[in-house]
Amino acid sequence: MNQLPKPIGYGRQHINSDDIDAVVEVLRSDFLTQGSTGQHFEDALCQSVNARHAIAVNSATSALHLSCRVLGVGPGDIVWTSPNSFVASANCALYCGAAVDFVDIEPDTANMCPDLLEQKLATAAKANKLPKVLIVVHFSGCSANMNAICRLARNYDVKIIEDASHAVGGRYLGAPVGNCALSDIAVFSFHPVKMITTGEGGALVTNDDYWADEARKLRTHGITRSKEEFIFPEDQGDWYYEQHDLGLNYRMTDFQAALGLSQLKRLWEFVERRNEIAQKYDRAFADTPIETLRVPESTVSSFHLYVIRVAADNRARVFKGLREAQIGVNVHYIPIHLQPFYRKMGFSVGDFEKAERYYSEAISIPIFFELSDQEQSFVISKVLELTG
Ligand SMILES: *Cc1c(COP(=O)(O)O)cnc(C)c1O
Repeated sequence: MNQLPKPIGYGRQHINSDDIDAVVEVLRSDFLTQGSTGQHFEDALCQSVNARHAIAVNSATSALHLSCRVLGVGPGDIVWTSPNSFVASANCALYCGAAVDFVDIEPDTANMCPDLLEQKLATAAKANKLPKVLIVVHFSGCSANMNAICRLARNYDVKIIEDASHAVGGRYLGAPVGNCALSDIAVFSFHPVKMITTGEGGALVTNDDYWADEARKLRTHGITRSKEEFIFPEDQGDWYYEQHDLGLNYRMTDFQAALGLSQLKRLWEFVERRNEIAQKYDRAFADTPIETLRVPESTVSSFHLYVIRVAADNRARVFKGLREAQIGVNVHYIPIHLQPFYRKMGFSVGDFEKAERYYSEAISIPIFFELSDQEQSFVISKVLELTG
């Protein structure tokens, strides 16, 4: 076999008949949005990640934006994140009028490097340019070193958002990613390539009652319908509501929430299968020049991505060869600061060398629940053939 009979991607959703039934049930009901299914999904999400509050929204991008808003990010503020991420991890700060900067990665996990964070915080403190918020990305589903990162950020009174878009279902120090024990807010994505899906969708979770309340309000135009909060409570009828802030319409529909609720029941199954696939790749590449990412002992990765690293001068050729064999490989990520939009802000090549080096070598190969053993074996043999 020289190519797969049908193309496969690097990731894809798994939809079963329970998922379909759950969505259809909502479609036949009275409420397509703003019914009770959204709340049920949020409750289930809280349970599964062990957080107090979950606010489901129409994307992780929206969840990141709301998270920055409730933490008070605005003009004059600085937000730091990892350059090895999707642009949304940085864009959310710009939506709020803040400035963005980056903390480079540690090469073995491709996550934010605590040592570099420590140095950068010390320098920023001296210059009186500390960030208000640090957005930590759990790349590929493997938690960043939150113990170290949290200790450093707290020292300087910097708030932490976990961009856990890759990592729902992952664990760190025995606890679920998203329990916010070492952060203020965590964000998940439910895009179809991610761990569980709602089509488009995302959520933020937090243990803070006030931020949760604010995020719920901002999700619906900044409007409140709760009498206790009214500025003008006198003699108002039941129609009355008040807008207190410039919010957005970031709601998730109830049929999406139904899909999420149904998917969430299989989250552990998904994580387990992805770990099985990852282990088979690990074994196959163990005694070859192909490098893979390290998963620290403290961590159970949800394995949203499986990344191989090949010599930079060979990457384009290997990538092309895999695509020609119908293997839908991808590259995660083009460092955010190298995007033309960010270069206009003054960033350039060489600013975050570790992320740039990592990017020049990385290829994400297929990992998803329904990837068959035969398909995976074919991927392995093609990778070995192209790199051998
Ligand atoms: C997918 C992703 C996002 C954006 O998620 P959407 O739900 O598509 O908005 C943000 N950050 C990271 C790290 C992601 O991988």
